[in-house]
Amino acid sequence: MKFATKAIHAGQEPDPTTGAVMTPIYQTSTYWQKSPGNHQGYEYSRGTNPTRKALENCLAALENAQFGLAFSSGMGATDAVMKLLSPGDEVITGDDLYGGSYRMFTKIFANYGIWFHFIDLSNPENIREYINANTKLIWLETPTNPTMQIVDIAAVTKIGKEKGLLTVVDNTFASPYLQNPIDLGADIVMHSVTKYIGGHSDVVMGALMMNDEDLYKRLFFIYNACGATPGPMDSFLVLRGIKTLHLRMKAHCENGRIIAGFLKTHPKVDKIYWPGFADHPNHEVAKKQMRDFGGMISITLKDADLEETFRVASSFKVFALAESLGGVESLINHPVTMTHASIPKEAREKVGVVDNLLRLSVGVEDVEDLLDDLKQALS
Ligand SMILES: *Cc1c(COP(=O)(O)O)cnc(C)c1O
Repeated sequence: MKFATKAIHAGQEPDPTTGAVMTPIYQTSTYWQKSPGNHQGYEYSRGTNPTRKALENCLAALENAQFGLAFSSGMGATDAVMKLLSPGDEVITGDDLYGGSYRMFTKIFANYGIWFHFIDLSNPENIREYINANTKLIWLETPTNPTMQIVDIAAVTKIGKEKGLLTVVDNTFASPYLQNPIDLGADIVMHSVTKYIGGHSDVVMGALMMNDEDLYKRLFFIYNACGATPGPMDSFLVLRGIKTLHLRMKAHCENGRIIAGFLKTHPKVDKIYWPGFADHPNHEVAKKQMRDFGGMISITLKDADLEETFRVASSFKVFALAESLGGVESLINHPVTMTHASIPKEAREKVGVVDNLLRLSVGVEDVEDLLDDLKQALS
């Protein structure tokens, strides 16, 4: 099946009891057993729930994976991956990560004896010098948040396979519509479903997709044992959201391209980060592994201090000043004080997360209204 058909149908059959075309919200914590152990495959909703199961099968299909697991947040999904590791194990990851991932790695799992190397992944060969007998996992994000750097997924997974390491890709920024890391050799794909997949800024959820059955069983054990699983109502909302994922992504890409073009030559804009520009440092890799370039754009304001940056960030009328991304509505974010506040100043400035940086999540409104809003806010 092709993407749009999977988005609408994968994992979903008419309900066997009523014929309902849309998967019902099985709002139940537990399931009747005829005699002990004699049940219909469902015992307790922390482990399994039919609405969530339909969603997980749909999520797996979107990433061309055999198995999917939904979590109560993106961080819940990341937490489950890290629990595959033991004290003494080492992880190689990017130096330009989502702030919450950086915080979890350094403030939680470092205390459990897991070692993290935060390195520049723009040249995958850099990975080799950090690999030793304890290295178990490579965690990468592409495009990165917020400076839209591109990591060559196929080149990284090749090194991972050669050295027997698990490679995990946080595919949140691209969405499965634009990029499928499992096809490029990744072992696990992680999503903050909260963003493009959910798409309506009304649910917090995460997901893991994988092909290897043994890996799926280990992750399912952690999921059920630790319990960061989402409820049926949220699962329903995401199933509903996914039905328009392909339509939304097309519109995000279209609006993103127009707005990136407008901002590139705007006198108030200094740097602009968008992988669709031919002069983006990893444009060729982006072209190779992504189907289009998405609606995430970051800019620095020319000659703007923190106060001026705040003034601009607060003067939008259509773009909402808010954390998060990937919803139908356009958002503007100030990474230094919002999404990336948990990263030390020195670490964030090294990768371009500076005081005058703003990140746009271009929504699917009429692009003329978005352009007018940018014109007035940047005037
Ligand atoms: C938002 C986000 C996360 C965390 O997901 P939550 O659903 O907020 O827990 C992880 N990675 C990236 C790239 C994100 O944007």
